[in-house]
Amino acid sequence: MQKPKIFDGHNDLLARLWLADDEDPSSAFLHSTLTGQMDWERCQKGQLIGGLFAIFVPPFEYVKKNYPHKIDWTLHQTAYTTQQVEQICFAQMSYLLQIEAKSAGKIKICRTVAEIYDCIANGIFAVVMHIEGAEVLDADFHLLDVFYAAGLRSIGALWNTPNQFGHGLNVPFPHSPDTGQGLTALGKELIRYCQHKRLVVDVSHMNEKAFWDTASILQQPIVATHSNVHEICPQARNLTNMQLEEIAASKGFVGVNLDTAFLREDGKRNAETSFDILIRHFDHLIEYLGEDHVGFGSDYDGGFMSNAWADISYFPKIIDKLSAHGYSDDLIDKISHRNWLSVLENIWGK
Ligand SMILES: [Zn+2]
Repeated sequence: MQKPKIFDGHNDLLARLWLADDEDPSSAFLHSTLTGQMDWERCQKGQLIGGLFAIFVPPFEYVKKNYPHKIDWTLHQTAYTTQQVEQICFAQMSYLLQIEAKSAGKIKICRTVAEIYDCIANGIFAVVMHIEGAEVLDADFHLLDVFYAAGLRSIGALWNTPNQFGHGLNVPFPHSPDTGQGLTALGKELIRYCQHKRLVVDVSHMNEKAFWDTASILQQPIVATHSNVHEICPQARNLTNMQLEEIAASKGFVGVNLDTAFLREDGKRNAETSFDILIRHFDHLIEYLGEDHVGFGSDYDGGFMSNAWADISYFPKIIDKLSAHGYSDDLIDKISHRNWLSVLENIWGK
């Protein structure tokens, strides 16, 4: 078989760069001097052709505990100010723009599917700008217009903590995805606005009510960029079979998350996790969604990985396992990138 080309639906590189305090984050990525789970060299080893790069504001309490120098203590803060949320988002967006600018034409932020196909044909790495947790946005969506102009094409309105668009999903394992109220009135407006702008609407961090609120508004494919099967691993953030049926009916898409806590039956972070459980999620998703609606949403630089797929350079090993499991070359081609490109084309248009 030909070398697989991987288009990956989720990573948290930009948030990690923000936390890492490197003087020149974009060059650190490009020169592959990073210690996390991905950098430019390892993307190439992993046979990546592109993917969604998330802008993500790490939760205040997490940063306060683990990266206290990031907090301005003179403000006696218990939460970020609006200005700080904007600064964190703009910093990460700027890293991505700099990565593109310094890549000597090797990396491009894509705004259309035609641009992505053009990149693939010319060996250029295709980046899609995504935001995970949209608390930075104002109620009139003016900032969303500006982000769109800067290249944003995909949005996860919520992360695990509540914001102005919806309620939280921060519950212990195991748990049903039903954690209470769903989208706020403003959250519903945001989904309508995203539909109008033809942005990807990511349901990966939505609780059940927010998922169904979104499904009732959206008239485009429903995408979960990095979620797995709740029947196998009952994390609240994984998808029930009813949710999978709804995604299938919308001709939507699920990107498989490689974080072991979202794969294992015991919901544990465990570096000894084997490929078998990963393959069970793929089999189940294909059973419910068909072969054309499943792909990758790794969560590298944001998830706890098995030693068997420790960093982004391990993608070819995952492909080998899927192949050994009996997946045809055509199916592997779909999972590795074609399905992602199809759903983007269905949402964005040609
Ligand atoms: Zn996430």
